[in-house]
Amino acid sequence: MTCKKCKEKPVIKLTNSHITLCKKCFTNYFEKKVKKTIRNHKLFKKGDKVGVALSGGKDSLTTLHILNKIAKQQRTTKLVAITIDEGIKGYRDKTLIFAKKYCKENDIELHIASYKETFGKKLDSIVKKTDTIPCSICGVFRRYLLNSKAKELKVNKLATGHNLDDEAQTILMNQFRNNLTVSARLGPITGLSDNKNFIRRIKPLYFVTEKEVMTYAYLNKLSTDFSECPYSHLNYRSKMRNFINQMEEIYSGSKHGIVNSFLEILPELKEKYTKENKSIKECEICGEPTSKEKCQTCIYAEKIKNG
Ligand code: SF4
Ligand code: ZN
Ligand code: ZN
Repeated sequence: MTCKKCKEKPVIKLTNSHITLCKKCFTNYFEKKVKKTIRNHKLFKKGDKVGVALSGGKDSLTTLHILNKIAKQQRTTKLVAITIDEGIKGYRDKTLIFAKKYCKENDIELHIASYKETFGKKLDSIVKKTDTIPCSICGVFRRYLLNSKAKELKVNKLATGHNLDDEAQTILMNQFRNNLTVSARLGPITGLSDNKNFIRRIKPLYFVTEKEVMTYAYLNKLSTDFSECPYSHLNYRSKMRNFINQMEEIYSGSKHGIVNSFLEILPELKEKYTKENKSIKECEICGEPTSKEKCQTCIYAEKIKNG
């Protein structure tokens, strides 16, 4: 077997096709696909200041690596990295090393915010005293910190490392829970409209699969440790991930099918829920966007404070 383009030794067989590619051709193919997503969906423009949510895992390092290449070419796009340290021993402390190393070697400004500093406790201590699933608290706190840090740094867009697998899982999770309001905020660029209080998220890896990201990160020496968070097996997403992977195994193309069919109906969903979602308020405690009086972050933070 040889590379379809140059006849070198192949390193990967592309999903949904019989095409095999070598390291160089795969890297080209991957970067082109990501750049096309940025261009077609107008994820950011020259002159924007883009914050990259950098966990130090394969997805966020790949996102930062490609955006850094683009920023260097464009010169006017400014890049900063934002890392949230949840306080997960044996996991986040390891990926933080990769995040710091990459930013140092590539001269990228890195800003770190931690749960311990902001909420007084690390996630490891928080979960010992609650029955709530760790990811429910962690996801809310991370979104809050990323948004507030991004505003503080005056970034226009916040880039995350979500890939096609992640999006397929989120779409089905919302579907299974009858939660279309949340689905209306999905897509390569999230949010219903420009809201000065909520920095829009962009997903440059939207159309590449997890397997492709893993291959890119490995081949380009961005990450060699693909270990997962010790709490991830407890969440709904991990069950959905197994389910979709099993379906993909039997019915090749299932992941692309979920995402592409969703994108066809997304404009209608956005239209419907933009009208219904005009009433975004500001949290009476912290001022972050919320649909209630107090945001979920402040509700959790109060519970933690009161033990
Ligand atoms: Fe937090 Fe859950 Fe992600 Fe772990 S898997 S970092 S607990 S959201
Ligand atoms: Zn090749
Ligand atoms: Zn709040």
